[in-house]
Amino acid sequence: MSHPSRQILADASVFVSGTGTDVGKSVATAALLRALRQAGLAVQAVKPVQTGVEDAAREGDAACYAQAVADMPPGPLPPAATLHSFRLPASPHLAAAREGAQLTVAGLRQDIETHWRTLMAAHAGAGPCAVLLEGAGGLRVPFNEREDTLDLMAALAAPVVIVARNGLGALNLAQLTLDAVRDRGLVTAGLILMPPSDALGTPDEATRAILADNEHWLRARLETEGIPVAVLPWVRLNAAGWERLAQAVRPVAQALAALLRTPSHTAEALVRRDKKVLWHPYTSATHPLPVFAARRSHHNRLVLADGRELVDGMSSWWAAVHGYNHPRLLAALRAQAGRMPHVMFGGLTHAPAVELAERLLDMLPQGLARVFPADSGSVAVEVALKMALQYQQGIGQTRRTRFLTPRGGYHGDTTGAMSVCDPVTGMHSLFARMLPQQLFMERPRCRFDQPFDPASLDDSRQKLAEHGHEVAAVILEPVVQGAGGMWFYHPDYLRGLAQLCREAGALLIFDEIATGFGRTGTLFAAERAGVTPDILCCGKALTGGVLTLAATVCTEQVADGICRDGNVFMHGPTYMGNPLACAVALASLRLLEEEDWQTRVQMLERGLRQGLAPCAGLPGVADVRVLGGIGVVETTEPVPVARLQAFFVERGVWIRPFARLIYLMPPYVTPPEDLARLCDAVGDAVRQGVHLPN
Ligand code: PMP
Repeated sequence: MSHPSRQILADASVFVSGTGTDVGKSVATAALLRALRQAGLAVQAVKPVQTGVEDAAREGDAACYAQAVADMPPGPLPPAATLHSFRLPASPHLAAAREGAQLTVAGLRQDIETHWRTLMAAHAGAGPCAVLLEGAGGLRVPFNEREDTLDLMAALAAPVVIVARNGLGALNLAQLTLDAVRDRGLVTAGLILMPPSDALGTPDEATRAILADNEHWLRARLETEGIPVAVLPWVRLNAAGWERLAQAVRPVAQALAALLRTPSHTAEALVRRDKKVLWHPYTSATHPLPVFAARRSHHNRLVLADGRELVDGMSSWWAAVHGYNHPRLLAALRAQAGRMPHVMFGGLTHAPAVELAERLLDMLPQGLARVFPADSGSVAVEVALKMALQYQQGIGQTRRTRFLTPRGGYHGDTTGAMSVCDPVTGMHSLFARMLPQQLFMERPRCRFDQPFDPASLDDSRQKLAEHGHEVAAVILEPVVQGAGGMWFYHPDYLRGLAQLCREAGALLIFDEIATGFGRTGTLFAAERAGVTPDILCCGKALTGGVLTLAATVCTEQVADGICRDGNVFMHGPTYMGNPLACAVALASLRLLEEEDWQTRVQMLERGLRQGLAPCAGLPGVADVRVLGGIGVVETTEPVPVARLQAFFVERGVWIRPFARLIYLMPPYVTPPEDLARLCDAVGDAVRQGVHLPN
């Protein structure tokens, strides 16, 4: 086992679950306890929730654990512990409710962690301690209306041992259970096959054949996957009997001992290995900004490899609007993976793509008619630019080969997309020779929260008057300029611009990759202006942050122009219309419609306004602004990213600032108290001057 201070619970615990209730889990756990202690490990068997007992120490599974090691020299730890016990012999949710108690996965996880840390502190001399946790019943046994044992197992992320009872149906139950464990990303460290409960009598020839075949079959199947199988004999539960069980369970105990002695990977080691072989976004390969190793995610939380849990303030760059690991999205992913993960989109189609396109068109502003799936936001922008060029060619406007775009925009990092990003933050000077030279106009300067100033359209009017004849399209992010400065401008600007485009014969492209799917308070930002663009790009939150997928959507008029005279659109990525991504996107859009995103985004907006307001006027702060689920503290100088990030992680929040921006865009499901934690962390950073340059 690693150094105690660095140890995390996931590396110091094992979860024992079964294919059902009454399969012999307690005896199997007790046998493991004995075998692990014999292997020299400081282990305690713990029953997080015991039901059906009056006195847990004497009647419950803890008594069975204690019995299994009663003849051994006392170890450094008491052999057994029970954390919660209830009298009704039923599922924990029911037994707890009967006594007016409420069990939650977060609470149980915390209780287990506290118990383990107490053991570690009280028995420091014994070295690292591990806990063998025995669940109640099988995997889907509930703790409350929403959460069950499998959720607790996922939250603990410990290796799992499955106990099955040999007999008719064992193969089926064992494999269903193992599949469910694997689908949650958990490691099965072993299977323990218990003897049939009526083993006292002598089984007949047919039964013996079934039992032997089950054993043979499970061994053959699991051992190819590297999962050891231990077959336990029927014994009398006396000292000799426990010893025979400990011997029999040894293959599984050895695998567990190996896991407990060598933690999966420490955070430090992972980061060290990362540094040698990987390259992260917008940073040097040789002198990179620090990275943190993430191990798991759930709801609005990220769990680091060192066990620290952070409140997420970024939605993984606008994407994870429903939070992480949403069961509906994961179910859609699994179901589609079982059917068909991918096929080429040339010459083939499938239900996920068709249904997604239909649903998207229902949600998007009226008038958009054709969906071209793309693999990322940048690619969707490339596709939009190519569509506009091909359209102008198609209708005979062959001189229209340039794009007009406001300063301060951001549209992605591929070449075409880069050419329409802000020339300064997009580093055009670096790529000057290869980037197409586009036309830039003033950033829409009329703030979202102030009355519209028609003069803010003067520059676009002038640019279109001068260059309109060579402009294929105007491209911009409606209402919110994202990565180019988190700038919120007045929707009336878009109305005026749409009119100017029409007059100039230029198409209008809205990049809603960041703003789409509710983030700004309307489903699409275009709705605030009542404008339907000729082409619209969306991505990011399209799949709820699970897989990369974007789409470029255009009007029938644009499609007709491109396809005139038998022409075709010249684009077709290998993973176009990936069925997995489409299936998840479809599930995400359904969820969005069902879950009242609007109320949630309004709550985020209120919380962000209230929480970030105290930052206004503090030294080094230029502006504080909030729109929908986006909160921004703009600083006067570029912030020290590494220092601020480390401060935030220390505070238990995940916020990644850049340039002169400390900003929040949390998942829509963020509870008010977590939103307050995010805002407080930003407030404290600014109050303490962590954002000021060195
Ligand atoms: N357009 C906008 C408005 C964006 O915010 C982004 C991503 N930050 C992109 C395009 C590029 O998308 P991707 O990173 O998926 O290529």
